[in-house]
Order: sequence, then structure tokens, then C-alpha cells
Amino acid sequence: MARLVMKFGGTSVATVERIKNAARHVKREFDAGHEVAVVVSAMSGKTNELVAWAKEAAPNYDPAEYDVVVASGEQVTSGLMALALQEMGMPARSWQGWQIPIYGSDAHSAARIESVDGAGIVAGFDRNREIAVCSGFQGINPRSHRIVTLGRGGSDTSAVALAAGLKADRCDIYTDVDGVYTTDPRVVPKARRMDKVSFEEMLEMASLGSKVLQVRSVEIAMVQRVPTYVRSSFDDPDNPNPGTLICDEDDIVEQQIVTGIAFSRDEAQITLRRVADKPGVAAAIFGPLADANINVDMIIQVVSDDQATTDITFTVPTGDFERAKALLESKHETIAYQSLQGATEVVKISAIGVGMRSHAGVAARAFRALAEKGINIRAITTSEIKFSVLIDAAYTELAVRTLHSLYGLDAA
Ligand code: ADP
Ligand code: ASP
Ligand code: MG
Repeated sequence: MARLVMKFGGTSVATVERIKNAARHVKREFDAGHEVAVVVSAMSGKTNELVAWAKEAAPNYDPAEYDVVVASGEQVTSGLMALALQEMGMPARSWQGWQIPIYGSDAHSAARIESVDGAGIVAGFDRNREIAVCSGFQGINPRSHRIVTLGRGGSDTSAVALAAGLKADRCDIYTDVDGVYTTDPRVVPKARRMDKVSFEEMLEMASLGSKVLQVRSVEIAMVQRVPTYVRSSFDDPDNPNPGTLICDEDDIVEQQIVTGIAFSRDEAQITLRRVADKPGVAAAIFGPLADANINVDMIIQVVSDDQATTDITFTVPTGDFERAKALLESKHETIAYQSLQGATEVVKISAIGVGMRSHAGVAARAFRALAEKGINIRAITTSEIKFSVLIDAAYTELAVRTLHSLYGLDAA
């Protein structure tokens, strides 16, 4: 007998029919004698609709009430899933974040899970093998007692954190693809499914834009050693495939230099032209952005011809672009730049692989390949196991496919 957490994402619970199908996967595990906790997302599209309603009601919304609104999508699916399981003859009970409870920080709409108390769920397992159907994405702040949500895609994190809290043997993330691919299979039909991917690489892929898992869920899986699989809810419930295991680097026999290509459209570029090239200028620019909680990602500084001024280019998340621009415009005098240019039609393409630690020239090959396709690189960053380039968004697919082929990732 094992203890399992089974998470179903938005597409997998998009209709009552799909919920019934997901319930068949649960029945398979239940019939095998396992203890099961299920985590559900909202029906696909629901959270977007709720976000839009909150913004329509109040453009500068109170984040605490925004969380009340957007958390409601998961309440519906947890109740429907419990009903579907009961209809199929299984004992099942829904649990909202506050009932479990899953405690989250007070950062509304981006809360971090502080702790999970699985005692009530385990009592149900012990009583009558009751299946706990938990709403993903939501928790409660232990001090304000208000509902908090975990950021978009947060049900993955609910599932892995619950698996850790329940000391589950496994966390299965059921989604609309049958595992983690070398890149988004919707963009590159030749993407290959991986049987295993290391925690480190998955973490980079997720943070660099592969939305298949929320970043925080991978962090928790890595730190708390939760065996986590990504697999398909569209498989035959009686004959499913195991999917992709996220595991230690050492457990992977065949290592590639580059294992995956990720891309993120959530980038906007800002260039400050002719900033005085003197000590303190970077602090004058990036200090206020940090104080405003705006995350700066790529940074490049170019010394201009006159040696007295410099151009500074950096990227911020698209959602913070207007705010960053307004902030820097308000500091025009202090920073003393000549002009500010911005671009939102840009994309960050990244290549990830632990093999980069021991191989030189991996990024250089990409620069050459992109140049041959006439793709101009606006900014570059590198770190131990990845590099990223910022390019015009119009070239997204071409660039991703080019790098995917270059590193030998295309399926035969
Ligand atoms: P869910 O609603 O189940 O949480 P998501 O839409 O959040 O599903 O995540 C699954 C999607 O992630 C897939 O449909 C796929 O388009 C996308 N994706 C992006 N990168 C990858 C990748 N490297 N491997 C698999 N899927 C990926
Ligand atoms: N429903 C939430 C969202 O769309 C959480 C999730 O699906 O993981 O972001
Ligand atoms: Mg998701």
C-alpha cells in the first residue's frame, strides 16, 4: 500500500465529463489499495475569468479580496470531484485550503506555503480510506485568517507541498501532455518526451518559462525529496503511462549537454540611453526598482563612444513594464539619462543542461546558429547550467526550433 497525491490541472477538469474521467484514474489507485489525496485546479479558463472580474470591479483591487474571488474556481472543482468519486462508490470529501489547513504567507496572490497540516486528511485515511479532494492554489494566512492564493499555476505547488506534508510516496501531476518534453510540444512538434529530468534542470526550465510545472513546486519537490511525476490525464485510466519523473541528476544515466529549451514572453526591455558613466549610477536605477518590488532580470551595460556616458539595457516582467517606466521617468533628473526606450514585443529563449558545467562553447554555437537565421540578439545572460538570449518575439518559434535541432534534441 502506498500513499499518493494525484493532481489534476485545468484542462483535465475542464468539464464534468473530464472530471469523471479523472475520477477513473483515482479509482484505479484506490482499487489498488492506496491512500489517495487528490488536488484539483479550477476548470480551464475559469481563473482567467475570475481575474478579469476582479479587475473589472476594481482596477486597483485590494489583493485580499482578489484572492477571495480567484480561489473560488478550485472550490467548485473539488466539490464536483468529490461528487464524481462518491458516484463511483468511493468515500470522498472535499477540503478547501483553510480546512486542511494549508498555511500561506500574507503575500496575497503570490503567497508562499509556510506549512501543511495533514492530520485531518490522515484521520480520514485511517477511518475509512476516505479520499481527500483538496482545492489547489489556495491557503489561509495563520495570522490574518484570510484566504491567500499561491500565484498562477499554484496547484502544482499545493500538490507537492501536500505530498510532503502527508509524507506521500509519490506525487503525480496529471496534465494535458504525457510528460516533460525537451521543449513545449505545442511549439516544436519534434520535441521529445523525457523519462527523467533532474530537479536542477526542471527548476531552470520552469523558471525560464516552461509552464508545465510552477517553479515553487519543483523547489519543494527537490528540498523535501518528493518523487514527482508529470503524466497525462488523457491516458486510458486502466492502462496509463508513467510519465516523466523529476529526480536527482545522479539517477539519470544518459546525460545530454543541453536537455531542454524554454522560452518566456513575459519579458519587456527597457534601455536608458546616455546615462552618466560614474559610480552609483546602477544603484540609482536598480535601487528604486527593487524598492518597488520589480524584478530585474537581464542587464547589459554598453560604454558609448564619448567614454562619459553609457547605455543600460535590462528586462522586467511584462506586467511591471508600465510601472517601471513611470518610476524611471519620475527619476529622470537624479539618474540623468538622455532618453528611455522600451520594447514589449520581445521573448527570452533559454537552453538548459547540467552538461554545460563541463563543456565550453555551448552558448557560442547558439549565437552562430541564430545569426545564420538572421535573428538579432538584444541581450544575453548565462549561468552555470543555462544561457538565455533576448530576441524579437516574431522569431520565437524559429529560434526555439533552431536551438532544439542544434543541440540534437529533435525526435527522430
Ligand atoms: P495544467 O492546467 O494541467 O496545470 P498547464 O497548461 O499549466 O497544465 O501545463 C501543461 C502545458 O505546459 C502543456 O500543455 C504544454 O503546452 C506546456 N509546456 C511548456 N513547456 C513544456 C515542456 N517542456 N514539456 C511539456 N509541456 C510543456
Ligand atoms: N487555477 C489556477 C491558475 O490558473 C491554479 C492552477 O491551475 O494551478 O493559475
Ligand atoms: Mg499548470
